[in-house]
Amino acid sequence: MNLPKSASVVIVGGGISGCAIAWNLANRGVKDIVVLEKDTLANGSTGRCGAGIRMQWGAEKNCRLAQFSVNFFENANDILAYERDIEFEQSGYLIIAANEAEAQQFRKNVALQNSLGIPSVFLSPEEATAIVPYINATQFVAATFCQKDGHLNPFHTTDAFAIAAERLGVRIFKHTEVTGIEVKNNRIESVDTTGGRIATHIVVNAAGGWSKAIGKMAGVDVPVYVQRHQILVTEPLEPILGPMVMGFSYNIYIQQVPHGSIIMGRSDHTEPRDFRTTSGWKFIEEMTKTCGTLLPYLRTAKILRQWAGHYCMTEDAQPIYGPVPEVEGMYLACGFSGHGFMLAPATAELISEMILGEPLTIDVSDLD
Ligand code: FAD
Repeated sequence: MNLPKSASVVIVGGGISGCAIAWNLANRGVKDIVVLEKDTLANGSTGRCGAGIRMQWGAEKNCRLAQFSVNFFENANDILAYERDIEFEQSGYLIIAANEAEAQQFRKNVALQNSLGIPSVFLSPEEATAIVPYINATQFVAATFCQKDGHLNPFHTTDAFAIAAERLGVRIFKHTEVTGIEVKNNRIESVDTTGGRIATHIVVNAAGGWSKAIGKMAGVDVPVYVQRHQILVTEPLEPILGPMVMGFSYNIYIQQVPHGSIIMGRSDHTEPRDFRTTSGWKFIEEMTKTCGTLLPYLRTAKILRQWAGHYCMTEDAQPIYGPVPEVEGMYLACGFSGHGFMLAPATAELISEMILGEPLTIDVSDLD
């Protein structure tokens, strides 16, 4: 397939964001959409993520964005006419409070979430162990739980959006790297790639950690940075963990995937701001220590492997959505700070609405 000479919209990045945006725009009737991916689909953060999906947030906007996405994911196989399965397991998220201050905040969070229709509950440690019997209840003072949270398969989900988008006429070019963006009189004119030039007036920058570099091509300074995040996976075990277990103070998220392996990760904000995706010993040491304290049963589980990806971070850990005032035609969908997978359906809806000049389903004007 040769690159077209022109396109109505060029989307840079074939991760979950780029593919979801492409499908959403095409589903609204936009023609001549092109997605450019320098590698294979989902090779960036998307294919390296935990793909956890939660509506339990402490800020209303994040709750609403995630709620939109959960509603979508619940019906995504049908909406996207996906022949396989995105494997959305709504096995819930149990979020533990390590101290009273955290517990107090969690009470407020649950009140906010319930006011928005999110069915989360506040639990004592005893009530939490009824949901996750193997958890060490001496290690936390309270918890919250939402059964509708869960996780899914990031590869299948990206695939589902991509196939559905192609069915609607979107052309996806893999192994095609964007190398330059031509701007004239503050307006985008074309995109240069390793496969040739495409004339366009609209570019969606959904390039994850590379969105800064893509912005720079058009003279836009996108305020994001990248940081390594690691995960490890154990041998498959008997089902022991229904929900995802997460703790902010403990700095852990841990889940059991359908074939039995336990996947766990944590953040390390002392990591250098660069693109390294190597695996480190410090991570494995800290991770296993925390996990062994919270879920002692897992102390003897064998680790199969570990891997790393990067978060595309902003200073306030909020995504960046929308057009760029200094360059007409450049739209940003980046800076997801570790939550871009779960937000993708909402991201796609909002970016499409912005491009088409429609009212926004969720007011994200402060995330510009
Ligand atoms: P990416 O998936 O990074 O896609 C960007 C794409 O742009 C890449 O494929 C790249 O190759 C392409 N690209 C870059 N430059 C160019 C160019 N010049 N030309 C063409 N193509 C280009 N999120 C959650 O919601 N829940 C989680 O549980 C979760 N866990 C995570 C765990 C880890 C360890 C990591 C690393 C991330 C996690 N995330 C999670 C975050 C999530 O992975 C990201 O926010 C999300 O995948 C971002 O998707 P994206 O499509 O915006 O970016």
